[in-house]
Amino acid sequence: MKDDKITRRDAIRYIGAGALGLVAASSRLETLANGRVQADGGDGECVVDRRRDPFTGVENSLLGFGCMRLPLAGDGKIDEQIAEKMIDYAYAHGVNYYDTAWTYHGGESEIFIGKVLKKYPRGSFHLTTKMPTPVVKDLADAKNIFETQLRKCQVDYFDYYLLHALLDEEKFQKLYIEDGILDYLNEQKAAGRIRRLGFSFHGSVGFLQKLLDNYPWDVIQIQCNYLDWKGDEKAEIKYRMVTAKGIPVIVMEPIRGGMLAHPNADAKEILHKTNPKLTPAAWALRFVATQPNVMVILSGMSAMEHVRENVCTLSDAKPLGGEEIDALMQAAKYIRDAPTIGCTACRYCMPCPFGVDIPGNFRIYNELVESKRIPYLGDKGTHDFERRKRAFFNAFSHIEEKATFEHCVKCGRCIRKCPQHIRIPSELQRIRDLSDALKSEGAQ
Ligand code: SF4
Ligand code: SF4
Repeated sequence: MKDDKITRRDAIRYIGAGALGLVAASSRLETLANGRVQADGGDGECVVDRRRDPFTGVENSLLGFGCMRLPLAGDGKIDEQIAEKMIDYAYAHGVNYYDTAWTYHGGESEIFIGKVLKKYPRGSFHLTTKMPTPVVKDLADAKNIFETQLRKCQVDYFDYYLLHALLDEEKFQKLYIEDGILDYLNEQKAAGRIRRLGFSFHGSVGFLQKLLDNYPWDVIQIQCNYLDWKGDEKAEIKYRMVTAKGIPVIVMEPIRGGMLAHPNADAKEILHKTNPKLTPAAWALRFVATQPNVMVILSGMSAMEHVRENVCTLSDAKPLGGEEIDALMQAAKYIRDAPTIGCTACRYCMPCPFGVDIPGNFRIYNELVESKRIPYLGDKGTHDFERRKRAFFNAFSHIEEKATFEHCVKCGRCIRKCPQHIRIPSELQRIRDLSDALKSEGAQ
């Protein structure tokens, strides 16, 4: 894999004068005997770990650059100057896996990443894009999309190509099997225009099993993070199913769209107590990195500091130990039991015809979560639980009785008014359920 190696001189040549200052200031690069790019110097010697594709032996960077949340300029388009610097920094620090899709940034992501990667030797980076399952109409449309993607990305092959966002079994059957799109993509693979073929997945365990049992796949991308590991997404089960077939896993949403970078205060505290050196985002990345069959962890980075932190987090990333995994599972439980509500207090949902002070209830609830005063029913019988229970009722006593969550009749009139897409009646019901459970525990 001679092409996979870059030297500092190459990096300077390929990165160009614009980004040179950045790279020169932050790192020195050299290629080690094993082909890994080593950076050292001003940024703490971080270089991203690599993992082999078990089928090909090709090394992918453990951190994959997801191009779905690139920084935006004032006009809402990709801020190409900043985004290019981020890509150059990542490349210079060993990131060789770049993930885009037909739908990202309204179709601009493929064009952008193609333009930026063009300056690097084709064999030194791995580019993934996807057949847009939600929008592709039929085989003719798929052929047109695939040819267009090659042109947009300015490449003559894709290293990895995925059926995007498989969710609906009927749709998969109709498009990919009956219309022949999967056969067509396999022909592209045989012709060398796709190196490895797989899919990204959001569906049920049963659908995944059928896909695994009936078709050969080179790679599978699943949503995986410590919150979804044992949660509704069933990430652990899916990971083990794919692993049992010997297929490498690519992880998406390791930080759950940024949510795990800002977990609630109870979750943050237990993580900090266990290892104060890791940030919440680093905890989340290290959790997925601990799973040995994870080949690439995608992160949709939108600022240079995300790239720097993620590169260092996944540099020489040792697996987490049992105590650390226990802390993460406890943190996941805190987050699941008391997720904060993303209300911005804009009041567009008001007035409620039944008198509920919607933002007022959400504010009090969020304050309880953030100040570690929300009660967890699993802690029943402890002194802390009693303290939190009193705090809960005391906090809600500051809102007029007729404006509390108890008066929501679920008429649904507020839902469409909320720009944050908060399921207002369900969230109010969640608070009510907690209140009812606490009341049934005895005197307030
Ligand atoms: S759903 Fe509940 S909070 Fe929303 S308008 Fe109806 S009663 Fe008010
Ligand atoms: S519209 Fe949504 S974000 Fe705005 S106050 Fe109501 S619940 Fe909060």
